[in-house]
Amino acid sequence: MEPASHHLMPGIPVLLSPGVRRIVAPNAGMMTGPGTNTYLLGVQDIVVVDPAPVDAQHLQAIMAAAAEGIIRWVFVTHTHRDHSPLAAVLAERTGARLIGMPPPDDGRQDESFRPDHVPRDGERLQLGEIALTAIHTPGHASNCICYLLEDQQLLFTGNCARTISSASHPVTAESWNAARTFWRRCARIGWRVRTKFWRR
Ligand SMILES: [Zn+2]
Repeated sequence: MEPASHHLMPGIPVLLSPGVRRIVAPNAGMMTGPGTNTYLLGVQDIVVVDPAPVDAQHLQAIMAAAAEGIIRWVFVTHTHRDHSPLAAVLAERTGARLIGMPPPDDGRQDESFRPDHVPRDGERLQLGEIALTAIHTPGHASNCICYLLEDQQLLFTGNCARTISSASHPVTAESWNAARTFWRRCARIGWRVRTKFWRR
């Protein structure tokens, strides 16, 4: 296990805080930066958040990191193709339940994602020794959900914080409204944001 200060190197599990590990997927690019962040939460009963695209190396890295436990749930923040396609493969491999919203029909989504459970806004899900609270944050995609790890006040946002400006998401009235909704919903909880662009 590498220290939290380790660079964002694909395939290397990094311990971010107790029971929270990050593995960067090998899909670096203009849209993904160093690569999609996949998180593993828990030690025995493991939650995977945002498994990223289908990639044999990344799948192997996730399975190896989870070898001392069992992957029971796979959460996705949204279904853009850089975030969720490996979910169906992981579910097939491990029997994990898929949690998130189904893909909207806009031609830019991972159509393979078929959730076993769609969390309500504010729903608290007990997952072994940890609990996650779902916070609906439409904007970056209409099916964005952030997940709050309550006991550590960590909020897993995927790209869902990227509602205001990016190369692919220029500022519009809609994006401002989505951003304001996002920040309002974040502001009502004690939180630290962890995305690939916000690091300690
Ligand atoms: Zn996205």
